[in-house]
Amino acid sequence: MAIDFSLFDKKIPIDSIDLQLENGQSKVIDILRLDKIHPTISGNKWFKLKYNLLEAERMNADSILSFGGAFSNHLHALAYAGKLFNIKTIGIVRGEKVQNPTLTDCKNWGMELHFIPRSEYRKKTDPAFLQQLKAKFRNPYIIPEGGDNELGQKGCAEILSTEMIANYDVLSSSVGTGTTIKGLAQFFKNRILAIAPLKNEHDLKQDLQTNIPNLQYFDGYHFGGFGKVTATLLNFQSHFLMHHGIELDKIYTAKMFFGLQQELKKNIAFSDKKILAIHTGGLQGNRPML
Ligand SMILES: *Cc1c(COP(=O)(O)O)cnc(C)c1O
Repeated sequence: MAIDFSLFDKKIPIDSIDLQLENGQSKVIDILRLDKIHPTISGNKWFKLKYNLLEAERMNADSILSFGGAFSNHLHALAYAGKLFNIKTIGIVRGEKVQNPTLTDCKNWGMELHFIPRSEYRKKTDPAFLQQLKAKFRNPYIIPEGGDNELGQKGCAEILSTEMIANYDVLSSSVGTGTTIKGLAQFFKNRILAIAPLKNEHDLKQDLQTNIPNLQYFDGYHFGGFGKVTATLLNFQSHFLMHHGIELDKIYTAKMFFGLQQELKKNIAFSDKKILAIHTGGLQGNRPML
């Protein structure tokens, strides 16, 4: 394994857009384009992997194992990192064996895929289960689902530059495991809007609200639940692309920007605030099933 991070060292672009609100009103917001940091390992997933890869290297691991659903941006990024840095990767995939562009990429990049029933997948953080996996796959370095560990957070704490931290009043991001938001919150002490694509994640909501006092968690923009879409959401996504020239993924970022737009409409207090919205990437998931 040989890690060369210079590929990712470029400056992250920021775009300003004029988001339409109501009655001809609009609001300028800035978008941090994490989707632009690399053609393949896009978005927040790179930041969550970075220190985990270094740790795997430090431990001289022969392989890296992680978990995800069939459309997982995390497994997709890990598989590519494995190919790039020449380390074997193993993906434990939730549910029955399926084929889709995400998993085909993973396989083509050398990831070994294992599909396990949902009932078993639920044990993904259970120490005894992890021990079994370690024995079965000859002691791989294990990264939790979604890169959700301290090293993942440490990487995400590097997303914002000192300038960005000083310049913005409000930060808005999507939230899955919460790793990205926890990392961002290490240095950003102004208001953080966490807009969730998930339904009924009470524990996560509680955890984030308790530990990050400047955070507000919005759970009304899930459109039926994780991975679910409606015509309204898809219209919003294509409208956004047409008007602003920015592609959003339907799982995370379309819901985040939709929610942000609604909150800006509702709350006049945002009108004079400098807002930075994070485009966390995930565009690989937009490809149609083949
Ligand atoms: C994984 C992912 C998220 C969620 O990030 P967490 O750190 O798990 O909260 C948000 N947006 C996109 C595009 C993602 O792929």
